[in-house]
Amino acid sequence: MNNGINEFINMHGEKKYAEIVILEYNFDKIFHYCIPQDLKDRISLGSRVTIPFRGKVTTGCVVGFLAESDVKNLKGVQQITDKKPLLTPQVIRLTKWISNYYLCSWEKILNYAIPKTRRAWLNKFDITDIPSLKPRLPEDNKSSDNEIIFSAEEVKESPPLKDIENIINNKKFKTVLIRGNDFNSRMKIYLRSIRKTLKEGRQAIILAPTESHLSELSGLLEKEFKDNMVVFDEKIDQKAKYQKWIKIRNSQVNIALGMRSSIFVPFDRLGLIIMEREHSSFYKEERSPRYNAREVALKRAELENIPLILSSETPSMESYWNVHENNFLEAELNTGEERENLLKKTIIDMTKEKSKKKIISYELQQAISRSLKNKRQVVLFLNKRGFSSFMICSQCGHIPKCPDCNTSLSYHLDIQKRAQLICHNCGKRAKVTGVCVKCGSKEIRPLGMGTQKLESEIRKMFTRAEIRRLDRDSLIKDDDYRQILEEFNQGNTDILIGTQMVLKGVDFDNVDLIGIISADTLLNLPDYRSGEKTFQLLSEVISSFREISFPKEVIIQTFNPEDHCIVALKEQDYNYFYQKEIELRKELDYPPFTHIIKIVILGEEKEAVKQRAEYLISYLESFRKDKESAEFKLLGAVDMVLWKSRNNFKVQFLIKVKDLEIFNQSFKKKYDKMLSKHFDQKNRLTIDVDPVRMI
Ligand SMILES: [Zn+2]
Ligand SMILES: [Zn+2]
Repeated sequence: MNNGINEFINMHGEKKYAEIVILEYNFDKIFHYCIPQDLKDRISLGSRVTIPFRGKVTTGCVVGFLAESDVKNLKGVQQITDKKPLLTPQVIRLTKWISNYYLCSWEKILNYAIPKTRRAWLNKFDITDIPSLKPRLPEDNKSSDNEIIFSAEEVKESPPLKDIENIINNKKFKTVLIRGNDFNSRMKIYLRSIRKTLKEGRQAIILAPTESHLSELSGLLEKEFKDNMVVFDEKIDQKAKYQKWIKIRNSQVNIALGMRSSIFVPFDRLGLIIMEREHSSFYKEERSPRYNAREVALKRAELENIPLILSSETPSMESYWNVHENNFLEAELNTGEERENLLKKTIIDMTKEKSKKKIISYELQQAISRSLKNKRQVVLFLNKRGFSSFMICSQCGHIPKCPDCNTSLSYHLDIQKRAQLICHNCGKRAKVTGVCVKCGSKEIRPLGMGTQKLESEIRKMFTRAEIRRLDRDSLIKDDDYRQILEEFNQGNTDILIGTQMVLKGVDFDNVDLIGIISADTLLNLPDYRSGEKTFQLLSEVISSFREISFPKEVIIQTFNPEDHCIVALKEQDYNYFYQKEIELRKELDYPPFTHIIKIVILGEEKEAVKQRAEYLISYLESFRKDKESAEFKLLGAVDMVLWKSRNNFKVQFLIKVKDLEIFNQSFKKKYDKMLSKHFDQKNRLTIDVDPVRMI
């Protein structure tokens, strides 16, 4: 497959033929068209054009030029839609890369990256079209020496700043991973780096994972760059998005701030990309095109040959591995250690509790009473992700795991209500014996409790407290969600119980106790990333709790206090966590040592789904005959499990690949035919490369 883009223009400087991706059909093919004389000066890479196709007029996007074409009787391009292409040549290259890497069609990702437009807006853009402006320089010109970002004093206090300065000054492709939990010191680096980039007449993209992180950043950036930046927030409508896009295209602004999809903004003098909280799973698009903005940012920085700043308190395994492999540079900032003495972290070993069936340990119960007496508030956090539950021995904490995948086996009842354990990764099944293989006790049973049960238990314990529950089940409308939060933030609620949702929007000002009811339910999701996710999530809880003026406590209940994740949390030792986790990943051949591709086939008829899965498996197996193709492993495809989800049957299996590029080349060869012949709206195929959710 050709990864490059043809920009060949013939000897007379003429663009003779255009390579066009048709935007209205899912073909994953390039078509050739002639370029009429009168359009030659105006057509460019990324131009949207109208073209005749199968007796109709349709829209395409120009992705290359040719001096010659071996296709006969070519039709001509009719019109050019946009005065100026909405994507830059570098972004076109980026979309091509995404289509290859994430195994989606080129048209899908182009449609995703190009903002939706209406004809009426196009005309308006024509009228207000403003010629390119010189980039505005920041007002503050205090430092006469252009080379300096950080003063000697600052560098002395924090040596990594020198490295960051060198990278920004070099203006070449290099990734720096900033590790630090202090938002203000990260912000200082962002501001200085952006200033420097603007001074050089270049532009910057800043990405945040969620709306709340975005508004946190935009509030601070707007103080200095208000007229020089655009913000793509969640509420933005298509028209406003288009208008901001045009501002960028006209160089009227030089900074773009947004969430994952803003990685495509069409700056043509891009000089810097900053990614706040790079580990966040929100950077992954969960619908097609299923890209991860972190990977895409990395590729864009490489294509544009510019620096990339990633930052996180708890970096993703992939990024920190890249530090160890010397691909990324690490800059560790000083942490706010001195404030932490006021924050106590307590790990409670639940195997030592007298009553094995109790959800709340004696110690947590005491702590809640204490908080209530002190007129403080309590947040109790329980993870609950629907159907997945697993077995745990309450004597020794043992959890039956798949020997091949090292993820917990899920507890299921089959049609005859017989219990069995199934591995969600590879489909392996095991019997439920009711006896713990580790300690022989009979105290082994499925663990999976809901917030509802927790609520009723808490109500029995604290009859006079105001208790509210915040999870998807207890909510009907967004308004209720806001109301519950508001009541809590105004201090009317004593105890708030909830899932991950409580972490968004809760004001911890008057909270002095957070109870993590079961770290085990987090740690044992059937997902090789469950350890990493637990560590990141709970670190974030501890972090958001850290701004304190009075003593606070985080209590974590677990049956496995020796788990490396729990130990690392207690000590707040990222390096310890990383070392233990990377060893496990290596041993079991998980990312970052391999890539995982998740295949899901969904349809209403059981047999049809099964047939398609079998077909796809044979399609994959056929690669093995090709000597050039990459090695891969199919997990779960041998002992195929058909899951019933709502009205659909679903088959899921995983492909584990060492060399993704070569594997994808094989995959894409006959992909188009395979797709159109065997899959449609009734039997859908989804392909997720580097998935962040395994179920
Ligand atoms: Zn398995
Ligand atoms: Zn046991």
